[in-house]
Amino acid sequence: MHHPDYCIAGAGIIGLSLALELHRRGATVTVLERNTPLAEASYAAAGMLAAHDPENPAQLQPLANLSLALYPAYLAHIEALSQLPVPYQTHITLQSHTTQPPHRFHRMEEKSIDPRQLAHALFTAVQATPIHVQHHTPVQTVLQQSDCIQIQTPTTTITTTHFIDCTGSWTSSTSHLPPTTVVPRKGQMLAVAIPPSLQLDTVLRTPDIYIVPRIQGPNAGRAILGATIEDRGFDKSIHPAAIAHLHTLAAQLIPEFASAPILETWAGLRPATSDGLPLLGALPGNPRHLLASGHYRNGILLAPATAQLIAQLLLNETPAIDPTSYTPNRILHTL
Ligand SMILES: Cc1cc2nc3c(=O)[nH]c(=O)nc-3n(C[C@H](O)[C@H](O)[C@H](O)COP(=O)(O)OP(=O)(O)OC[C@H]3O[C@@H](n4cnc5c(N)ncnc54)[C@H](O)[C@@H]3O)c2cc1C
Repeated sequence: MHHPDYCIAGAGIIGLSLALELHRRGATVTVLERNTPLAEASYAAAGMLAAHDPENPAQLQPLANLSLALYPAYLAHIEALSQLPVPYQTHITLQSHTTQPPHRFHRMEEKSIDPRQLAHALFTAVQATPIHVQHHTPVQTVLQQSDCIQIQTPTTTITTTHFIDCTGSWTSSTSHLPPTTVVPRKGQMLAVAIPPSLQLDTVLRTPDIYIVPRIQGPNAGRAILGATIEDRGFDKSIHPAAIAHLHTLAAQLIPEFASAPILETWAGLRPATSDGLPLLGALPGNPRHLLASGHYRNGILLAPATAQLIAQLLLNETPAIDPTSYTPNRILHTL
């Protein structure tokens, strides 16, 4: 039996960022991970900190703004613990609002990071603390008692004051919620080698395609081309036709990419809610069972603000922003 102050399910960017934030505030934390940490959506992402993407719902803005403001301190905290810097890869995004060429791009001051570099540094940072991360340990049941909450895994029972479900696309099953609460939305992507003749140091984005160059670190010299948005359940298979389509769309923006070698293809599952906003806070009628999930296309951007907001809710502090738009009650009021 373990008795941490808090038990988190899911070692993606959301669960591990929250674990670090709670540890920083003096709490003991156990993270239960079904497989291995940071191997799902958080590893698949492009890494744009797209707080001003025109596709975002308007109510996301306060959370996105808070997260952008917290990002420098978040990265500095991870670096202090891990000794691994996570630099911004790009500082400018060229955005077009039209799907068809000719595109008229406008310039935005929007940054990107490499989520794989962040994943490595974040996990190293967590390992430098007493946070207990149990791999290959799926949460099976969550039992509300009068003065605590009990988490059952195949090998252990954990008794804690609060359970926070950070299992992304798997939240509906982990927290035994209606299956539509959080659904997986598949994204296929590819990475190509940036031709040496090409000077590319900005993100290019249209409603159909984005091109995200990696400038420094282990993946420097590649560009990420993405991404499809598909409803295919938990299927993560790669389809050559979808990859070829993305490659063609990218080559319409940057003709040199037509002959750029493909270095890698992959797919990830974005955790989607019915209104495109995350679920942050306690379940209706169950103050010990919280969700920090449903970050859809913006979980890398939103990780610092999510960690801070959930920690503030858990510790009964005044939240930095009004959490009403993100409360699970808006979707789960009928539970
Ligand atoms: C193709 C693609 C491109 C993207 N691009 C961007 C981008 O540019 N910018 C951005 O901000 N966001 C982007 N995103 C979105 C971002 O990746 C996600 O919102 C974010 O990673 C969600 O993080 P998470 O920790 O909630 O989920 P995940 O990273 O999926 O982690 C959930 C974890 O929970 C574990 N788990 C599941 N069930 C259980 C259980 N029962 N018990 C214990 N553990 C369990 C899983 O194994 C997994 O490790 C993109 C996503 C995709 C797929």
